[in-house]
Amino acid sequence: MHRDTKLTRYGRGTLPSAANPGILRASTILHGSVAALKETKAKREDDDSVLSYGRRGTTTAHALADAIRDLEGGDGCFLYPSGVAAIAGVLGAFLRPGDHVLLIEDVFHHTLTYCEQHLKSMGISMSIFPWDTTDLTAFIRPETKLAVLEAPTSNTLRTPDLPALCESAHAHGVVTATDNTYGSGWHYRPLELGSDISMISGTKYLSGHADTMMGAVVAKGDCVAALRHHTHLGGQLLAPDEAYACLRGMRTLSLRMERHEANGLAIARWLDERREVQRVWHPALPGTPGHDTWTRDASGTNGLVSLRLCDGIDAEAFVDALDLFPVGSSWGGFESLAILLPPSSGSAPDERPQVRLHAGLEHIDDLIADLELALENVA
Ligand SMILES: *Cc1c(COP(=O)(O)O)cnc(C)c1O
Repeated sequence: MHRDTKLTRYGRGTLPSAANPGILRASTILHGSVAALKETKAKREDDDSVLSYGRRGTTTAHALADAIRDLEGGDGCFLYPSGVAAIAGVLGAFLRPGDHVLLIEDVFHHTLTYCEQHLKSMGISMSIFPWDTTDLTAFIRPETKLAVLEAPTSNTLRTPDLPALCESAHAHGVVTATDNTYGSGWHYRPLELGSDISMISGTKYLSGHADTMMGAVVAKGDCVAALRHHTHLGGQLLAPDEAYACLRGMRTLSLRMERHEANGLAIARWLDERREVQRVWHPALPGTPGHDTWTRDASGTNGLVSLRLCDGIDAEAFVDALDLFPVGSSWGGFESLAILLPPSSGSAPDERPQVRLHAGLEHIDDLIADLELALENVA
């Protein structure tokens, strides 16, 4: 069955049934006997669909978790109240004092901050490897336990060779976890490409309506049990209302991604031709590093475009001059957005994007007209 069709059927019970699973709000699940509760508790140890207690999720979250697990092609899926909580959950499940974690260059900024500000204080060390590394051997230490990957990387949208990175990590017994918020269960499949774990901020495209926060971790093989244990130990869950909103949003994931991709690509190509623009980053543009790898490994792109304006043009004034791209954190909702990226150090100036746009579902002619007016205003 095609994925588009599956999106319309996830969570449906035997007929007659509501098309969308309802919101089941519950803490206690009542049992008729001591033996029945014992049986439930034994079953839930390796079956995440067992209804046992609200902290383990109710049928609403179970339906969502199973849908995301299926889209990503994993053996287990665990839900969190935000994407950041999901990433912190993975780091916590696989790292102990004395361990070392590898992060890909230009990883999502909060992942880096969490390692620098929290893990370091727990005696867990971290180092960053260049995004175009294909063999991690030189970066792996005896105490390296986990490599955190992301494709494409957060701000510069450069695509690493995920299969090669995972293969070299596995050769040294290092677990690989890939932030797949860009692909969001649709355009990119880290588990198929060799990653043990895929992490998604469902706040973005899965929910898709800028009104829900959630995170998901999908894993395969031995990693499932470790994640299950740590998720439940820390009491992490997604509330039923949020799970409902996310699954409802996912019904139109395929349609929305088509429009985000078309708009994002049209904007990237248009900006690339403008004399006011020094550089554009977008995985489908041949000039963006890792473009060939993206073409090999992914089935499409989304609405994100990063850019750098020519010297002398004020990036902040450009963002402020936009009307259809309000300024705001996050992306993946139905609406277009713009954000000024923090000035990054290290890389050469022409490697540093200044602005990130998110192309929403608006008509492309309106978006381009807005960009054109703003460029003319500031140039
Ligand atoms: C937004 C984002 C996150 C964090 O998600 P929240 O739901 O906002 O906590 C993680 N990774 C990437 C790549 C993101 O863009």
